[in-house]
Amino acid sequence: MVDETQKILVVGGGISGMTVAVEAAEAGAEVILIEQKPFLGGRVAGLNQYFPKLCPPFCGLEINFRRIKQNPNIRYHTLANVDSITGGPGNYDVTVVVKPRYVNDNCTACGKCAEVCETEIPNPVNFGMDTIKAAYLPQAMAFPFKYVLAPEIIGTPEAVACRDACSYGAIDLDMKPVTLNLKVAAVVWASGWDPYDVAQVDYLGFGKIPDVITSLMFERLASHNGPTKGKLLRPSDGKEVNSVAFIQCAGSRDENHLAYCSGVCCLASLKQALYVRERVPEGTAHIYYIDVRAMGKYEDFYTRVQEDSNIVLTKSKIARISVDKESGGLLIEGEDVGNTGKVRQVVDLAVLAVGMVPGTAMTKPNIDMEYDDFGFVTSPGISGIIPAGCVKAPMEVAASLQDATAAALKAIQHTVGR
Ligand SMILES: Cc1cc2nc3c(=O)[nH]c(=O)nc-3n(C[C@H](O)[C@H](O)[C@H](O)COP(=O)(O)OP(=O)(O)OC[C@H]3O[C@@H](n4cnc5c(N)ncnc54)[C@H](O)[C@@H]3O)c2cc1C
Repeated sequence: MVDETQKILVVGGGISGMTVAVEAAEAGAEVILIEQKPFLGGRVAGLNQYFPKLCPPFCGLEINFRRIKQNPNIRYHTLANVDSITGGPGNYDVTVVVKPRYVNDNCTACGKCAEVCETEIPNPVNFGMDTIKAAYLPQAMAFPFKYVLAPEIIGTPEAVACRDACSYGAIDLDMKPVTLNLKVAAVVWASGWDPYDVAQVDYLGFGKIPDVITSLMFERLASHNGPTKGKLLRPSDGKEVNSVAFIQCAGSRDENHLAYCSGVCCLASLKQALYVRERVPEGTAHIYYIDVRAMGKYEDFYTRVQEDSNIVLTKSKIARISVDKESGGLLIEGEDVGNTGKVRQVVDLAVLAVGMVPGTAMTKPNIDMEYDDFGFVTSPGISGIIPAGCVKAPMEVAASLQDATAAALKAIQHTVGR
């Protein structure tokens, strides 16, 4: 057991949680940031580029990593989860359990352990589109930049071989879960979002047709550190992709699935259409939408994408995706609302623009928070438990940063004079 006293606990190390942590710490508060995965960055770390500037997400993340590293007011723990929270504003007792990484701070990420490791596990970052050694760096630009040993090999001779291959004494097979008892004045809940389980939208074929993938999988396919090293290849046969259909509102704005609009999916698909144009000079992107939602400053981005004649936008609700027997491609079918005709388009790959579901939709933490019908946290944050970022509503990075900064301010108020 390790006892600590901290002022603000931030749960979730995505862009929102990291922003809360650095803003609060730079204003003088003490912060402890916990993240359940072995690295910080959240969903943003898996993107290929950010809209609207199209810069790699590590431009933004790296600045935050540096601010976290340099600030003595911030302590962070990865592989960490809240076990319990009791007490009230200004005075919470929190228990956090940190799972063993089996790798300590001596790790230089040299990769010698992975060289002797034979077991492969589905790569969680790439949604299982490839595998990774069970001794692995969890993300190409992982922060902390340290390997992890998957629990699957612990207790096997392979784990011992990994330990023996490390010249820095960085592998500790005796690591056990550690319980942290914290006293904090406020808790910021920034547990983010998950993609909607689009396999439930039967007629779109996800999970049954290999060349139907989600928008998040496409981000990984387009990434230079993704499963195909950034080449747009079809999952079914590895053939280079020439035409891609982007299906908007895949389950969203549908009473049978997600009744709401996630607000960022249109912009994400516009951005991804540009990935196609950049990687495949003669390639075509077809975007099928109900309405394109690109508000305010994002309108210019939408206009820019529309100017490309190889990006075809069609107002349509897609009714069916199936394998086209003749070509082996995918047949996209639906109504063409604008031209009052039918859509029948054969493409190489279909990308489903999936909605954002709050992490709290499925599992509600045992703390005093209020939720809407979809599981988004609606608590106003005036008590000591303050939600931040996409756990409150779907939002893009710029809005997440604003919301996180506001949450930091609310949290700091609970620490004043304590
Ligand atoms: C396809 C797609 C593309 C996108 N592209 C862009 C883009 O180009 N530009 C843009 O501005 N926005 C984009 N977005 C939106 C962007 O992903 C979000 O704005 C961003 O992820 C919000 O960050 P967050 O920290 O709120 O949530 P998350 O990124 O989900 O981070 C939450 C973190 O909390 C951790 N966590 C969850 N529960 C716990 C727990 N109980 N204990 C500890 N840790 C926990 C999670 O592991 C995660 O690391 C895109 C979204 C989609 C769907």
